[in-house]
Amino acid sequence: MRTRTGLSYPQLQPNTFSSDNRHRKRTHHAAADRPFCRKRNKLSSDIKTPISDLFDSLPDDLVISILSNLSSAASSPSDFINILLTCKRLNSLGLNPMVLSRASQKTFAIRARNWTESAHRFLKQCSDAGNVEACYTLGMIRFYCLQNRGSGASLMAKAAICSHAPALYSLAVIQFNGSGGSKNDKDLRAGVALCARAAFLGHIDALRELGHCLQDGYGVRQNITEGRRFLVQANARELAAVLSSEAASSVVVSRSCLTWNPHPSHHRHVTGSGCPLLSDFGCNIPAPVAHPASQFLAEWFEARGGSPGHGLRLCSHVGCGRPETRRHEFRRCSVCGAVNYCSRACQALDWKLRHKMDCAPVERWLDDNGDGGADVDDDIMDES
Ligand SMILES: [Zn+2]
Ligand SMILES: [Zn+2]
Repeated sequence: MRTRTGLSYPQLQPNTFSSDNRHRKRTHHAAADRPFCRKRNKLSSDIKTPISDLFDSLPDDLVISILSNLSSAASSPSDFINILLTCKRLNSLGLNPMVLSRASQKTFAIRARNWTESAHRFLKQCSDAGNVEACYTLGMIRFYCLQNRGSGASLMAKAAICSHAPALYSLAVIQFNGSGGSKNDKDLRAGVALCARAAFLGHIDALRELGHCLQDGYGVRQNITEGRRFLVQANARELAAVLSSEAASSVVVSRSCLTWNPHPSHHRHVTGSGCPLLSDFGCNIPAPVAHPASQFLAEWFEARGGSPGHGLRLCSHVGCGRPETRRHEFRRCSVCGAVNYCSRACQALDWKLRHKMDCAPVERWLDDNGDGGADVDDDIMDES
């Protein structure tokens, strides 16, 4: 057998695996001549040696190419870590920049409770190797969890330059809210521009955010028809994503998962985790799976009592995980005032997913202590 670099694999000798008595006798006699070699012969080293040689003789570039394919298909961090733990050689080749640059999104699905300095170092190594998913994930963690705003934002920008849609959208949310700065640091036009780029790449939250911005004339000239078009596109893409993930997992789309209701405006009881995002069209689809970085954020703050700091709140949409970086940064529901959202997209999603069943005007609204109440943007309107 010949490898790409021209090295030959050692051929297995046919008699290696034979139980031929003559061969056994010969090795026995050889061992008798050299007493210190007896153990090696007894362990049939002539079988083991060629097998370990097979791996050792594989050229580095071939092993790196195999590891790159494995890391790009890893379905969890442990998938990849297990490769590194296998042996010294795989450990060093597994940390080759080419392997790290291709590691899959799920390789970085680190649980917040497992966060350590070495996990941080691993993500850094991957982002240094040019892995955009690692740039985005580490950027989000640094910006929101470690409160290292400058380095977090620049890592997200690095991913955004490579057309990473979640990074573009996250930077848009930061611009809309002036996150990490003061209220005066809000840049609505920059937010809309970033959102438009992410929407162009098909990012569903960005399409929804852009649709609401156009409908409300927020950071962009009002255009209700165009806004509606983006919202319809967001819904259609969401449905397509659900159908393709169902097909990928070979699960038949059941009636409970995707239902048709010709009268969505009636009091329809929505149960479980179903997301009636397409309720405009009478459909009910499962809630979208949050990006690993968002899951990390949600777990991180949940482990800290659900609070990102004194007087600060988390986005009420469960799949988001973004915290406020200053008091009254997020908008709250204009009807009940009990929930807060980082963005219009989160508000719209949570409304259809959950909040429309809980929302009710409350007198507490009037009793609210009112400190900084004027700072709160209550211009976000529930859809009904
Ligand atoms: Zn949010
Ligand atoms: Zn409400």
